[in-house]
Amino acid sequence: MKLAILGPAGSGKGQNTGKIAERYNLKHVVVGDIVKAEIRNKTEVGKIMYEYTSVGKFVPSEIVMQVLDNQLSDWTGYNGYIIDTAPINMDQYSKMNTDDLDAVISLEVEDFNILRTRTLNRLICPNCRRVTSVFESPDEICSACGSKLEHRYDDNLETVNFRLQQYIRETVPVLQEFEKQGKLIKINASLSKEQVFNQICEKIDDFFAKKPLK
Ligand SMILES: [Zn+2]
Repeated sequence: MKLAILGPAGSGKGQNTGKIAERYNLKHVVVGDIVKAEIRNKTEVGKIMYEYTSVGKFVPSEIVMQVLDNQLSDWTGYNGYIIDTAPINMDQYSKMNTDDLDAVISLEVEDFNILRTRTLNRLICPNCRRVTSVFESPDEICSACGSKLEHRYDDNLETVNFRLQQYIRETVPVLQEFEKQGKLIKINASLSKEQVFNQICEKIDDFFAKKPLK
């Protein structure tokens, strides 16, 4: 089972992807984390990436996709993988081997105010990366590991609106491509956490029941 998941900030991507990976025994590949790890480990490609990120530029798609390909080539011990946040634009799409993907999960929230509220109240554990909110964790302590929770530095209204516009402009065309190929699994992500996750599982099961794995 080879999946990718896409959704705007606040759609619950972080919360759901880990649970999907666990339920279906998939390797959870977070694109942003791979890039950060290469830079931190000062690998050959990491040094090239750093030349871009250190001056605030995006790492070119071909470099990101090359590193992603390495990660996807080995999923020993898993039933497949789930790519967290790629391809995010048509440039990445064109440089990625998208034929390999069985399905793409799209977390959709029509009311942008829900996305804004969720993002602005989001709290993240710097230690175990659990994602929660000021409503669920008013004491701002991670219920899993006891660390002090933090807001993401860029979770402010201006950035949230910018990222949303960017998602509509650059990522929605990618979703449309997958839809044409019959690979898109659309999720109404404006519901509660439990409802969203149940819906994801039902739709994944349904999708693969109709279209068994090669
Ligand atoms: Zn934690």
